[in-house]
Amino acid sequence: MYERHHYVGGKVVEGTSGRFGPIFNPSTGEEQGRVALASKAEVEAIIEVADKATEEWGTTSVVKRARVLQNLVHILYREKDKLAEALSSEHGKVFSDAQGDVQRGLEVAEFAAGIPHLIKGEYNDNVSTGIDMYSMRKPLGVVAGITPFNFPAMIPLWMSCVAIACGNTFVLKPSEKDPTVPMMLADCWKEAGLPDGVFNVVNGDKESVDTLCTDPRIKAVSFVGSTPIAQYVYSTATAHGKRCQAMGGAKNHMLIMPDADMEQVSDALIGAAYGSAGERCMAISVAVPVGQATADKLVEMLKPRVEALKVGHSMDPAAEMGPLVTKEHQAKVRAYLDLAEQEGSKFVVDGRDFNYSMQGYENGYYLGGSLIDHVTPDMRSYKEEIFGPSLQIVRTNSFDEAANLPTIHEFGNGTSIYTRDGDTAREFVNRVEVGMVGVNVPIPVPLAFHSFGGWKASAFGDTNQHGMEGVRFYTKTKTVTSRWPTGIRSGAEFVIPTLN
Ligand code: NAD
Repeated sequence: MYERHHYVGGKVVEGTSGRFGPIFNPSTGEEQGRVALASKAEVEAIIEVADKATEEWGTTSVVKRARVLQNLVHILYREKDKLAEALSSEHGKVFSDAQGDVQRGLEVAEFAAGIPHLIKGEYNDNVSTGIDMYSMRKPLGVVAGITPFNFPAMIPLWMSCVAIACGNTFVLKPSEKDPTVPMMLADCWKEAGLPDGVFNVVNGDKESVDTLCTDPRIKAVSFVGSTPIAQYVYSTATAHGKRCQAMGGAKNHMLIMPDADMEQVSDALIGAAYGSAGERCMAISVAVPVGQATADKLVEMLKPRVEALKVGHSMDPAAEMGPLVTKEHQAKVRAYLDLAEQEGSKFVVDGRDFNYSMQGYENGYYLGGSLIDHVTPDMRSYKEEIFGPSLQIVRTNSFDEAANLPTIHEFGNGTSIYTRDGDTAREFVNRVEVGMVGVNVPIPVPLAFHSFGGWKASAFGDTNQHGMEGVRFYTKTKTVTSRWPTGIRSGAEFVIPTLN
């Protein structure tokens, strides 16, 4: 049994609230540790430390800041497997997928190492005779990141790398389900040469989140998690005068046109629906074949592959998919699958009782893969996010009917289309009301130099994560109009200045 506390001012600080949450190993079902849950007063003390560090870090030269990011990149590459192992043991995703979690995060560090170029302002000389005008991007001060359980390396790095490169200090409130990797990231930042107090971790629950969203010293809140909490964080933080970007849940559709290469489609769907046991906000959870023949072919091809999915302990190199994150989440996913059956959809493959066949790991939170056909858009199991290893099939008869489904769905995170026809793909890309779209790519997660964000109930706020949108989120623009004494004409002016 181990304990995780907080990381403040460059060192681990023990929690004093007396409140703890359990940390499980989902592969075995064993409780392996506990995490301190901070009180309001503890969070305020951490904000104080971050606030004190703003002046020095905010005025550190941009080249020095970039060098810390360059160091961080090297350290993260070196530590990748250790981070991935810790991540896998608390989250339950298989080791190779956990390595990917770290990799996608360190790619944001690579992007942010280019901050001298990214943060450049604009300049016009001689906008009027003798007058120059320029703008610059200034840090905000202390900013907070509140992150979900499903990417404990990538999402804290999405936020902290850009925020810190821009000259802000950062308070991370990670998920209480897998707090070890965020604490290891704090050590990596320190080794990279980041001054104490710039990157801090507060472990906690609603009490911490509420404090971060209301304390006047926090200037911006970046959140990723489920939609109800995203909405709550967005409304609370903005009501307290903060910038906020809050990413929420998803229900991602993949359209399969009759001309698609069905081998590619089935490869894509197996990975995109069942990888990480479906606990990805960009997982494909709905397949939308166009035409009954396409649907029949899809079911015929997927059935044996879903039945043959290798489910196992997250550190088993042969496993393609590990357990769900907690017993509660396993029960929630199971309840959605029961609902799908009650609502009249048909199980082609039923993964519900899989954990009983996990010899030696019967207490792990496993579910097998489920493949569910004849799902219709009026079903609650279709409308809501399941976040487990299941793929629902909605049969359609035309491109228009299929393309309309992701457009009218409440969520709008990701979607993709499989087709050989360029016109159809282009029409879909332009028409669909979803933030991230793939063409013959199942999980279109933008790379670090583009930006990540959904539409509709999948994201609140108007800037995305990382890329130039991240730089804009974590900076404010100052615009200067400048004239030197020789350019000043004499006499007071009583009308609004116009330049000529
Ligand atoms: P969650 O909403 O339960 O938790 C996210 C964070 O909010 C955690 O730090 C948690 O401690 C905190 N929190 C939980 N309940 C709270 C409350 N009542 N008040 C204040 N704070 C609270 O989400 P999760 O289960 O950790 O993550 C899974 C969800 O995240 C899924 O819905 C998934 O789609 C979504 N997600 C979205 C994206 C995206 O970019 N759109 C990415 C990853 C995950």
